[in-house]
Amino acid sequence: MTMEHVMVIGAGQMGSGIAQVCAMNGYHVILHDLTQEFVERGITSIQKQLKRQVEKGRMEESEMENVLQRIEVSTSLKNAAKADIVIEAAIENMETKKNIFEQLDEWAQEHTILATNTSSLPITEIAAVTKRPDKVIGMHFMNPVPVMKLVEIIRGLATSEEVYTKVRDMAVSLQKTTVEVQDFPGFVSNRILMPMINEAIYTVYEGVASPEDVDEVMKLGMNHPMGPLTLADFIGLDTCLFIMETLHEGFGDDKYRPCPLLRKYVKAGWLGRKAGRGFYEYS
Ligand code: NAD
Repeated sequence: MTMEHVMVIGAGQMGSGIAQVCAMNGYHVILHDLTQEFVERGITSIQKQLKRQVEKGRMEESEMENVLQRIEVSTSLKNAAKADIVIEAAIENMETKKNIFEQLDEWAQEHTILATNTSSLPITEIAAVTKRPDKVIGMHFMNPVPVMKLVEIIRGLATSEEVYTKVRDMAVSLQKTTVEVQDFPGFVSNRILMPMINEAIYTVYEGVASPEDVDEVMKLGMNHPMGPLTLADFIGLDTCLFIMETLHEGFGDDKYRPCPLLRKYVKAGWLGRKAGRGFYEYS
């Protein structure tokens, strides 16, 4: 079975990026979110990205139109019936993902692969709510999807070899480089990245240094392209908190406890760049 039709669940930062990259590489995409307004927000962000490509002379205007035409919008999960693969990129919450996967399992065709872009949640647990755990897999894109080369491919306990190979080949067709990862909390990327970000937040919380200075140390001292607090704002502080909670619960080790300042910012709605305010302010 060839993979031609991709459904992307969640038209936020990641979902819209995944939809864009799939459409740019010839796939027919169904971009889904809870409401028409949310899907349209995703489409607008894709249009902006593509227009920038045209302005920079990296894409013809006609190609931009073709890419946009390959994206269909959806607010009903029943549209999963049209997809060969579904890539879920809704919020980082286990109950939400389980609920979505239960419904996808019901509506999708038998051959359809159900992938999740989760940053840290166990693939095996998500797969367990379906009757096709062999066809459930983690496909962890990095942010921003059109720019970042890596996709972590995470095998659940029951993921079949055939499904792993198909998903790896699809990621390669999107011009990405893949890394194979086993199903443990945070996989590789966030098991290493998030404790570093959390520690940077503790450093601010304990008054050791300002966010600007913490970022400066990591940029100029460690040669990181972006400071950890700028990166946290970019990822979304709610997503950072979800991931730390997953690591904390998954390993049962207090070294992963989320910093109280991170919780406070999330409760305040200071979710980073997407909310206009996090460790920094964005106009
Ligand atoms: P986001 O908040 O920008 O977008 C989430 C979208 O999901 C929203 O548009 C929301 O309306 C939609 N949504 C929520 N519940 C839904 C439901 N039940 N059905 C359909 N849509 C629903 O979040 P994001 O940053 O795009 O993250 C999405 C996923 O990607 C998360 O699992 C996250 O952990 C993962 N991820 C994020 C990053 C990052 O840097 N932000 C990187 C890699 C992976």
